[in-house]
Amino acid sequence: MSEADPQRDDLITTLEEAVQAGMPHAVADLTDLVRIPSVSWSAFDQQNVERSADAVAALLRDLHVFETVAVARAPIGAGPDQGQPAVIARRAARDGAPTVLLYAHHDVQPPGKDEDWDTSPFEPTVRGDRLYARGAADDKAGVMTHIAAIRALTEAAGSEFDLGLAVFIEGEEEFGSRSFANFLAENKESLAADAIVVADSDNWSTDVPSLTVGLRGNVTFRLTVSTLEHASHSGMYGGGVPDAMMPLVRVLSSLHDSDGSVAVKGMTSHEAEVPEFSEDELRHDAAVLDGVSVIGRGPVLSRLWNQPTITVTGIDAPSVANASNTLLPSVAVRISARVAPGQRARDAFEALSRHVRENVPFGAHVEIDEVDLGDPFLVDTSGWAAVEAKAAMKDAWGADPVEAGIGGSIPFIADLVREFPDAQILVTGVEDPDTRAHSPNESLHLGVFRRAILTEALLLARLNRRGR
Ligand SMILES: [Zn+2]
Repeated sequence: MSEADPQRDDLITTLEEAVQAGMPHAVADLTDLVRIPSVSWSAFDQQNVERSADAVAALLRDLHVFETVAVARAPIGAGPDQGQPAVIARRAARDGAPTVLLYAHHDVQPPGKDEDWDTSPFEPTVRGDRLYARGAADDKAGVMTHIAAIRALTEAAGSEFDLGLAVFIEGEEEFGSRSFANFLAENKESLAADAIVVADSDNWSTDVPSLTVGLRGNVTFRLTVSTLEHASHSGMYGGGVPDAMMPLVRVLSSLHDSDGSVAVKGMTSHEAEVPEFSEDELRHDAAVLDGVSVIGRGPVLSRLWNQPTITVTGIDAPSVANASNTLLPSVAVRISARVAPGQRARDAFEALSRHVRENVPFGAHVEIDEVDLGDPFLVDTSGWAAVEAKAAMKDAWGADPVEAGIGGSIPFIADLVREFPDAQILVTGVEDPDTRAHSPNESLHLGVFRRAILTEALLLARLNRRGR
């Protein structure tokens, strides 16, 4: 639809100039934010998270487009503990224009050991075209993308534009978003929107943008297999009665086909085109040992984004050093599965637990507990917001965006979908494959930063015209 807009080229040029002129300001503000070590983990000084929230609120107030800007908290679960401070802002839509909610988080991961960093983690440093520091990308650059995009919008449209805006800058994304669901429920009216931009993901490369359209969900649980009331001498009874390890190993081996893909009936895959990515690249990126093959079938990125996977991530059994010659009565493992987009986590869990009970041999007793479920997420890319976002990416980057999946999970997205079922959700970001979020030497590519700001400014400016 933007193709038919006669002012299209003018708008791009105006915003390009505004974003370019605003870059020193955006980088300076980002640098100031990054200097505040706002680690949300409870072992760190929480005053820094408060300072960081106040700094973000001041930047939002300085835009002079919001009717309200506030720092707020919500209880964790049923309380009484409060979550970390978030920042919310809102301006009402005018003349039938839509409202967009802009999400990012101002808290950061712990920096890890100083000696693993080439420069101090909270002293932002530019080397080449990258800005290095904890939070320089994840996700203070997401915060600044929203702020700089609104600045560019006001350059192009003045501060009396029609678009409704809501802003939610979370303060504990890196610490499990523990008060997120309560926060949404308590601030539902302030945050309600027609489209939600979650600026906390990455891009295909520094030259090619991504719109994240799929996220796998997760299922984890403890599986305990038992065969005997107590341990027995393995010489006396071995060969006559089953120890717990044997049926456990047999049932675990039934979870996968011989090529390593999931063999559980009822765990589904998502059908979607994926970009080309070779097994060699996968081997290299994941540091696979010489001679070890990769697993699964179908296109490589479909295995990572659109198919389920099951992994054993822990085991409770005697250690090798303490192993005695006994038949083990009981063994427990932690199962961690990823759920393909399009399937509910609850349904995947039921398929998996049914498979375990049906395939455990010798009538061994099975117990499943400590269940944790997170739903996957799939964007409807035919929605108007996704169509506009992809067009804005193409115009800002000069390259078609990749519709990307993410193998991991962003559990709070499910909370957003639950609270705002009618809103379209756009997952964008300022990271690239060399960002190293959560790791030493995290960095932001400044060209990606500029293109991300221009993309969002274009998106907001075009949505601003939609209401007319
Ligand atoms: Zn993040």
